[in-house]
Amino acid sequence: MNICVIGTGYVGLTTAVGFTAVGNKVIIVGKNKKKIDKINKGVLIIYEPGMGKELEKCVKNKSLQATDNLEYAIKNSDIDFICVGTPSREDGSIDLSDVEKISQDIGKVLKSLNEYHVVVVKSTVVPQTTEEIVIPNLEKYSGKKAGKDFGVCMTPEFLREGVAMSDFMKPDRIVIGEYDKKSGDVLQNLYSGFDSPIMRTNLRDAEMIKYASNALLAAKISFANEIGNICKIIGIDSYEVMKGVGMDHRLGPHFLNSGCGFGGSCFPKDISAIIAKAKELDYEPILLESVMDVNKKQKVRLVDMLKKRVGNLKGKKIAILGLAFKADTDDIREAASIDIIKRLKSEGAIISAYDPKAIDNMKTLFPDIKYAKTAKDVLKGADACLVMTEWDEFKKLSENDFDFMKKRVILKGRKMLDDIKGSEGICW
Ligand code: NAD
Repeated sequence: MNICVIGTGYVGLTTAVGFTAVGNKVIIVGKNKKKIDKINKGVLIIYEPGMGKELEKCVKNKSLQATDNLEYAIKNSDIDFICVGTPSREDGSIDLSDVEKISQDIGKVLKSLNEYHVVVVKSTVVPQTTEEIVIPNLEKYSGKKAGKDFGVCMTPEFLREGVAMSDFMKPDRIVIGEYDKKSGDVLQNLYSGFDSPIMRTNLRDAEMIKYASNALLAAKISFANEIGNICKIIGIDSYEVMKGVGMDHRLGPHFLNSGCGFGGSCFPKDISAIIAKAKELDYEPILLESVMDVNKKQKVRLVDMLKKRVGNLKGKKIAILGLAFKADTDDIREAASIDIIKRLKSEGAIISAYDPKAIDNMKTLFPDIKYAKTAKDVLKGADACLVMTEWDEFKKLSENDFDFMKKRVILKGRKMLDDIKGSEGICW
């Protein structure tokens, strides 16, 4: 099939490269000329394990090209995937301006298209967005009718950064929300090469499945953190507790790991968006608000632990190991390290940080803190160290490396380095 993918972020790139791997031709549409040139040279513009090689391959065999010309991309495709960003507004509600704009622009191109075409929303959008924003814009700007002249689907993406390629190629399920059967059939046909169960449903159910999934995963994390905080006060290891809890087949062992909270581009913004949507509908989502509250407090709990151990932070040298919101990505969106750095700065600490991949991104937010070249370097002379991201690289640090700290205060927001003398976990 000939496919147009709009958006060159984590989801757009994964979708584009992934579909070429199963024999399709893809044109990916971006806005930034420099990034487009890089993609056309087979150079990856994000850090995502395993994607670089695949990108190189599909650029070489000409199954993928990048452009900023939306009209060219749509006119040379049978199906478009909208993969633009849907960030949070100040008040936590979803900012749909990119979705609104792209559906207008696609509509303008559809106007002069003679063939049947399917438009697929892959961006995470609150329920009713496809019906109330995307379809009306497509119809208004094309002068055509959904279901008759063009098809519409909504297929949420469930990939995790760090393992995006394998998640895309072998998802637990593919959810196809369809405007009508014909649209759904086109999308199901495209996914026929995938060995995953397919669920077909309507547009708003598909939109809500994504929010319900992320909300439940986030709730499990906040639950594990709340139980973990209680465990910590009593002197219980929350990991031992959750090992026992997870053996219940009704509960399962996943997402019960306590730590310094969830971050990333999805959980915080998606839970905030569905809370805002619920309130717009006059419903008070008490549970979801608590999930966010627990998480907000959890992110900075390490600073309270730190103050108990080293006292006033003014002038103290604090080392931060890990900046990315999780390992194997350079993404720092909503990372706990950001909240920690803000708190440490306000308390007058001298901060030095290290991350294998996320330093450049963090420099755009905090150009004024120190960044070390290696994990070992960041520890030298530090009054305390905070472990924020579970990078494999940190697991190689030895007892000896921590001896170079001024004081051996090692506080961990992630469960690792358990053999290091004097290290203390946030919930264990
Ligand atoms: P991103 O911010 O990394 O990328 C979005 C891209 O869309 C940007 O490069 C932006 O320039 C581009 N864009 C916006 N308007 C455009 C236009 N008119 N033409 C061309 N490009 C345009 O976002 P992302 O992480 O890739 O996420 C995209 C969507 O997928 C979001 O709704 C997100 O919630 C969802 N999602 C993300 C993940 C994830 O792990 N990152 C997982 C599942 C779902």
